[in-house]
Amino acid sequence: MHTHHHHCTCFIIPSGMLRKLADAAATDAERQCLLDQAEQSAFLRGQRSIAPAVMGISAGEKRRTIFDARHGTTLPGKLVRGETDPASRDVAVNQAYDGAGATYDFYLSVLNRNSIDGKGLRLDSTVHYNKKFNNAFWNGQQMVYGDGDGKLFLGFTGAIDVIAHELTHGVTQYTVPGGLTYRQQSGALNESISDVFGSIVKQWKLKQSVDQADWLIGAGIMAPAVGKALRSMAEPGNRALTWSGDDQPSNMAGYQDDADVHTSSGIPNHAFYIAATILKGNAWDKAGPIWYRALPLLTSNATFADAAQATMQAAALLFGANSPEQQAVQTAWKEVGVI
Ligand SMILES: [Zn+2]
Repeated sequence: MHTHHHHCTCFIIPSGMLRKLADAAATDAERQCLLDQAEQSAFLRGQRSIAPAVMGISAGEKRRTIFDARHGTTLPGKLVRGETDPASRDVAVNQAYDGAGATYDFYLSVLNRNSIDGKGLRLDSTVHYNKKFNNAFWNGQQMVYGDGDGKLFLGFTGAIDVIAHELTHGVTQYTVPGGLTYRQQSGALNESISDVFGSIVKQWKLKQSVDQADWLIGAGIMAPAVGKALRSMAEPGNRALTWSGDDQPSNMAGYQDDADVHTSSGIPNHAFYIAATILKGNAWDKAGPIWYRALPLLTSNATFADAAQATMQAAALLFGANSPEQQAVQTAWKEVGVI
């Protein structure tokens, strides 16, 4: 049986960020290149992706497959590394392979989930997509990574949270009944869930407690002259921690209904950060499982208030009604002005 799921072509870099960087570009050629990429992102988002042929898959095991687009745009590209193949000489291939592996291991060992669909779906990734492509995305079937232009963005396989962010778009697609519509609050929740698990996978891999974690998304993929990270979950909108155009609100007081989903996601991101820091220890011990348990309780057009109710309900299911865990979740959503 094939079930149709709503899915997004979900980019890690919003087109608005590429346009802001274009405004600040040093030369006309750089400006035009960024505007072309912003437009291309919008074009790809409107495209229906075609499922690549999947052959001979036995469900229930970690199966990573890395392809090389060789700077073209045909997906998935040439097969360059399969599961158990030795490491490549190509750093991007190995980073995509290792990042997908860490994300798979996290979901299996911490949340008892076998891959993106819970049924051992093969994890396909394509590296070297297009020329100097300043983005990475999940297209509903697979991960796709650009190399960056080397001036603004470095390679997109270099940050494990970016890889886990993109793969989590697949988890959301399969776990929230009908998927989360990629606009307004449901779209911001879709983005936030990817940031939440992107950050948790990084913390888990680095064995960092909530106090040790940097709570940044995309640290390491930007050139230092552009910024330090895409977003901060601890302090959304703090440009000293991120980059000069960061316009994320951390509270409903700064919410705008027409803002980009990557902007409004600051509010639910910050709610997760507050809940996790109240609960102390490791984000994957309590706060992560609560957010994960809430996913099947959401609907396609869920609002932030719906997410608050779903996470409070999930906390009650896992830890009991009126437990300190449920109270921490409630406090978090109150602090960001959602309830
Ligand atoms: Zn995303």
